[in-house]
Amino acid sequence: MTMSSKIEPAASCVDPFSENLMSLDDALARIAARVRPVHACERLPIRECLGRVNNEAVKSPYDVPPHANAAMDGFALAVSSLTDGEIVELDEIGTAYAGVPFEGTCGPGQCVRIMTGALIPDGADAVVMQEQAEATADGKVRVDSDHREGENIRRAGEDIAKGDIVIDAGARLSPADLGVLASLGIGQLQVKRKPVVAFFSTGDELMSVGEPLEPGKIYDSNRYSLHGMLSRLAVDIIDLGVVRDKPESMRAVLEAAAGRADLIISTGGVSVGDADYIKPALEDIGTTEFWKIAIKPGRPLTLGQIDASIFIGLPGNPVAVMVTFSQFVVPAIQVLAGTAMSRPKLFKARALDALRKKAGRYEFQRGIASQDDNGDWQVAKSGKQGSGILTSMSRANCFIVLPDASEGVEPGDLVNIQFFDWSL
Ligand code: AMP
Ligand code: MG
Repeated sequence: MTMSSKIEPAASCVDPFSENLMSLDDALARIAARVRPVHACERLPIRECLGRVNNEAVKSPYDVPPHANAAMDGFALAVSSLTDGEIVELDEIGTAYAGVPFEGTCGPGQCVRIMTGALIPDGADAVVMQEQAEATADGKVRVDSDHREGENIRRAGEDIAKGDIVIDAGARLSPADLGVLASLGIGQLQVKRKPVVAFFSTGDELMSVGEPLEPGKIYDSNRYSLHGMLSRLAVDIIDLGVVRDKPESMRAVLEAAAGRADLIISTGGVSVGDADYIKPALEDIGTTEFWKIAIKPGRPLTLGQIDASIFIGLPGNPVAVMVTFSQFVVPAIQVLAGTAMSRPKLFKARALDALRKKAGRYEFQRGIASQDDNGDWQVAKSGKQGSGILTSMSRANCFIVLPDASEGVEPGDLVNIQFFDWSL
């Protein structure tokens, strides 16, 4: 028997051209098609609604501000009391404070001293700033004719008109939204319940923090970065620990999690290899698709379903975990939570370093973005870029996102960056 002197490589994770790779957009579209938003809602005090998804459009019950009021300290008057090209002397008949209105009417030839936020008295149609008027010793106020109707008056309903939609259904509530709700006197809101996300690490080599490290073993870091990323999101978290590379152990943890979590995330055990046990375990109890995605790092990814729970199997390498979480898990949680899927924003920055890359995959290198003396953004690479080198993430503040076709970057080239934002 003759034998070739060269080993023909089998399909593997290191060769991007060994088979058809799925694009990032395709993978996202498939995730969007599979994930169903949570239905249940709860009514909460508005302070507890931060980051939660609004269930029904909120319409304003009032005009905001509810009444016309002064935008400045000064004198409320009717512009018809002024005389073109001349200075008139008006009688000051009282004072309007914020919260304590002037009860009378401001007639012709009269003015009312007024503080910012105070109701505009009947009869007045302008507020002249105090700097543009002159109070005399005998209780008169001198004003020229250079003023127009509506001056320094905040109109009723200028911010929000009664019946306006102020917060859309499906919107995630921001700090400003809480303020808007409070400005309408709304103290409680109906929001979607938080999605429940369970996660576990897989690997016979993993030890947990607190145990003395045995030869050949490593500490499980993925559960900590996952815990950190999930803690920034409005989700309830279940940490299922480390699961050993045995089909029975995988199956047991998946079955237990399926009843409790809307989304189950695992790390490791999804690449091509003898020690990959996720696949048989999932195939027994649910449905699953194994993908090879044209991104680096983070090529292998699994999407599955066990009863109503979605399963996303992330790769094992610590950097790949964080990349795939930001690109696939965050959008999946957005859909689950009942809001629209949104992609991380890209910004342009000038590369300070040469970046190596082969065409064919969309790459997420790690970068340190800063502003130069002109305020323009520049980005340096954050050290060695291996997908196991987690310090390349902890030193970085952004991904440098290089498109499929890119064959590397020279210093001075413009590149796209995506700032780390571990929130939705
Ligand atoms: P796997 O996909 O299971 O083959 O894992 C790929 C690489 O990531 C291996 O070098 C693993 O040791 C490493 N890895 C997997 N899970 C973890 C984890 N939880 N913490 C740190 N490294 C991990
Ligand atoms: Mg493993």
